[in-house]
Amino acid sequence: MTPAEPTKPNEPLLPTHAVPPSTLGTMKPDGTRIKMHPADVKGKWMTRRRVVFAVLIVFYIVMPLIEIGGKPAIQLDAAARRFYLFGATFNAQDFWMVLLLVLGFAFGLLALTAWRGRVWCGWACPQTVFLEGIYRPIEQFFEGGREQRIKLDAAPWTAKKFGLRAAKYAVYLFISLNIAQAAAAIFVGPRKLLSMIMEGPSAHSTAFFLVMGFTAVLMFNFTWFREQFCVVLCPYGRLQSVLHDKDSITVSYFEKRGEPRGKVAKAPAAAPKGDCVDCNRCVVVCPTGIDIRNGLQMECLACLQCVDACDDVMHKLKRPPELIGFASHHELIGNKRTVMRPRLAVYGALMLLSLGTLGFSLATRTPFESNVIRTKGSNPFVLDGDAIRNPFEIHLVNKNPETSKFHLSISAPVPIEVVLGTPDVELASLADTRVPAMVTIRKEHVKGPLQLTIEITDSHSGEVKRQPLQFLSPMSVGR
Ligand code: SF4
Ligand code: SF4
Repeated sequence: MTPAEPTKPNEPLLPTHAVPPSTLGTMKPDGTRIKMHPADVKGKWMTRRRVVFAVLIVFYIVMPLIEIGGKPAIQLDAAARRFYLFGATFNAQDFWMVLLLVLGFAFGLLALTAWRGRVWCGWACPQTVFLEGIYRPIEQFFEGGREQRIKLDAAPWTAKKFGLRAAKYAVYLFISLNIAQAAAAIFVGPRKLLSMIMEGPSAHSTAFFLVMGFTAVLMFNFTWFREQFCVVLCPYGRLQSVLHDKDSITVSYFEKRGEPRGKVAKAPAAAPKGDCVDCNRCVVVCPTGIDIRNGLQMECLACLQCVDACDDVMHKLKRPPELIGFASHHELIGNKRTVMRPRLAVYGALMLLSLGTLGFSLATRTPFESNVIRTKGSNPFVLDGDAIRNPFEIHLVNKNPETSKFHLSISAPVPIEVVLGTPDVELASLADTRVPAMVTIRKEHVKGPLQLTIEITDSHSGEVKRQPLQFLSPMSVGR
């Protein structure tokens, strides 16, 4: 390998020594599954990860169960066609904002993957957060470390093994039930969920079976399926190969420093020796069972457990840390790290555009909407002797989180006669109504185009909106 040699277009995304494994790290050559028992690991990345997990567990489980300002913190109320986010209330007409949020998140994920690899998977995906932050620690509590768990798996069914497994699965069931209920709260809201629980399954049999069904899915996933979700099922995992490029900074083994690998005691003193002592610690801590020394592989979740494990080994050997660390393919072969490249710029710009538009829309969002609708099926103006009449409707939507009263009035620079269906309207949050209106002006005052002003005052927010409306007449239509 020539260190500074630029890569060729078809060069594989692997260090030159690496032999891509012919099977998944969780699979034997005959296709049967290897049950993963990752060893416990301590280190700076694991500590940071635990903090991130704690924050996200609160976010994923607690947020759907609480209210902010009397409204659900997170609720997608499909029946009422409205949704709540951190105390703000949105209706079906605001759905484009959800689209912007989803687009911003999706482009952000693409940018993150192109920049840092699959960090979402190892740090923030609910699958990992729940597995590594809740279910795995519970397993370790009941069944011990990796060696004890492997022994327990192989052991015959004794009263002790049965007791340990029963206790573990009972706690799993309790956790799964609570996660399923938090998921249900996303659709029904925390208050309704509580009342449904109090009223019992017979009063809400459909909801009950849905929660039980989701609990069963969670049990299947977190007791048995586990890393297979990330390795064989998740579509984002499949996408990462096309999102990466040779400048993506991923978890990497520094081959030049590590090779030739060899056991500390067995290596002859004179033999050239790399820093890797072939202890296999980086492999046994890996939740997807891969050997990162074979280069970046599809199953790598960027969890950094192998980095902590190897740093610990290096520390004990009094060697510098980060034999496994972050590097791009170009860095591994001796080229410079290039951070900004076209794909990252495009993904980043699209993310900023989506989130920027969303932020601007939220900042300028009005507490109510109003539109003037010319009355369907009737003439836009009516000639009645020496007067001209304009019938129309004022459509109002209350976007406040609470019920509000609206006062309507219509004015013009000339004398007018106004008949309003009701000048004061009370609307519940997200309710709407149409108020019929008729404006009459004597012909002698209509010399040409004339503008009316519709004024709407919202008592909840105090906002006053003045909306112009052209008064239609033979004089304005002809122009
Ligand atoms: S933990 Fe480090 S020293 Fe041990 S096998 Fe892995 S890379 Fe080599
Ligand atoms: S190779 Fe390292 S970073 Fe990748 S999944 Fe395994 S332990 Fe995590």
